[in-house]
Amino acid sequence: MIYIQSFTFNDFQENTYILFDETKEAIIIDAGCFYENEKHELSDFIVSKKLKPVKLINTHCHIDHVLGNEYCAKKYDLKLYLHKDELKTYSDAEKWTAMFGIPPLTQPQIIEFIDENSIVNFGNSELSILSTPGHSVASISFYNKAQNFVIAGDVLFRQSIGRTDLPGGNFDVLISSIKNKIFTLPDETIVYSGHGIETTVGYEKTHNPFLQ
Ligand SMILES: [Zn+2]
Repeated sequence: MIYIQSFTFNDFQENTYILFDETKEAIIIDAGCFYENEKHELSDFIVSKKLKPVKLINTHCHIDHVLGNEYCAKKYDLKLYLHKDELKTYSDAEKWTAMFGIPPLTQPQIIEFIDENSIVNFGNSELSILSTPGHSVASISFYNKAQNFVIAGDVLFRQSIGRTDLPGGNFDVLISSIKNKIFTLPDETIVYSGHGIETTVGYEKTHNPFLQ
């Protein structure tokens, strides 16, 4: 059984997720903890549940989704998993820190590439990967069929979609990712997004103004 804990971090109100199961192994998806209190909130949760983080993963590498990577990688000695075509976005993070007045980032360099053919394992659990580009050039989503949820990053939000005006964004590609990947999942599938509250595939099919 996978348990999902969400946190909302940094000035961009980004959602960071910790997934763990009965073995106490955990993965951290889109570590956005930036301020000291946010780093403590994340670590305190891990301590309180006696978790053992085993992987650090990105749905995509926009600045708000990578701000906590170095902290988590160092503290828990984690490798970072991302899609290889997100590397450019990842290395561009420095430009964005300058633009937003954020101090320069040190980013983890121990990286393992994952794509639609990969499986993310932790404890007794696994997630499959959907290729869902369009918001960022190589955004990926993590799907668990047994419990029927998807961690979708900034692809799809409750009644909205990811922005496509950043480098690597493409509106038509994003709509296609949603319709041909996310919307092929069962209607009851819970969608955990990179910003805002969760939703379901069925709710978005009928209520999302961008997808009618
Ligand atoms: Zn993004």
